[in-house]
Amino acid sequence: MIIDIHGHYTTYPPGVEAYRGAQIAQMSAPSKGKMNVTDDEIRASIEGGQLAAQRARGTDLTLFSPRASWMGHHFGGELISRYWIEHTNDLIYRVEQMFPDNFVGVCALPQSPGVSPANSIAELERCVTQLGFVGCNLSPDPSGGYWQEPPLTDKSWYPLYEKMVELDVPAMVHVSATCNPAFHQTGSHYLNADTTVFMQLVQTPQLFKDFPKLRFIIPHGGGAVPYHWGRYRGMNLDMGRPELTELLMHNIWFDTCVYHQPGIDLLFKVIDIDNLMFATEMIGAVRGKDPNTGFLFDDTKRYIDALNLSEADAYKVYEGTARKVFPRLDARLKSRGK
Ligand SMILES: [Zn+2]
Repeated sequence: MIIDIHGHYTTYPPGVEAYRGAQIAQMSAPSKGKMNVTDDEIRASIEGGQLAAQRARGTDLTLFSPRASWMGHHFGGELISRYWIEHTNDLIYRVEQMFPDNFVGVCALPQSPGVSPANSIAELERCVTQLGFVGCNLSPDPSGGYWQEPPLTDKSWYPLYEKMVELDVPAMVHVSATCNPAFHQTGSHYLNADTTVFMQLVQTPQLFKDFPKLRFIIPHGGGAVPYHWGRYRGMNLDMGRPELTELLMHNIWFDTCVYHQPGIDLLFKVIDIDNLMFATEMIGAVRGKDPNTGFLFDDTKRYIDALNLSEADAYKVYEGTARKVFPRLDARLKSRGK
């Protein structure tokens, strides 16, 4: 089985944008309201989009979450975020109900700038215990590019982590849109966040002493981290600490959303195979074909297959590690005889 641990519902039917537009237009008077999206619209948006891509690329199952760039935690206050995120998580649940063999839900969290992360616990719990989701996306920067929150190692995040550990779900570290014009959303803000959070963890590894079972996935191949592994490793050793592999890498995984062969080669050379999980982030940041190869940039399976991994290593990257990092996914698959 080939599990893609990173996919978003980027092909929302028009009713989603209509809801969000109306919500933003009336931010002073938040109400949950209704999101008008039919089952037929969802079916069409998935069958012509992510499901078609799964089939074309030979992958089986996608861990599926709300469109990341539209999480938009910075819009309005806490209630705006809560209503919007609840609706989009419900959409993911509807996709999963329609295509249970192909998509398993991962939730967005109703974060809001300056609001305690503890206020996201109720939605995390609802998604995991009632909707059957297996993980969450956690933004280290709900301000949208202005970085106003304390680092993810700060104790203000701890109540959320306690709930994640209790529910046995990991978080993918994932920002949303940037409203800071200095950053491009997927070109810089996403990769900045991946790199920034890794360094936060290097600086304060106490987090994983406090939560030995806390699990983070740093997407997009870990941002700049694999390329600059020597810098992080050296800084860490300069602080008199044990190797990063001992200090952090029992709690952190990187995905394979890296869109060229040399990048994948480097990722697999630098990062232990046990810390890598297959992902594409399709349909997402790069949608075109590489004119040099004729293949889609984000068809990352091609690059991994070109590594000629041993059968055991390929199993880890494509399935086995995901089943360990997402135990609720493993339980779900086992309950279906997979
Ligand atoms: Zn993503």
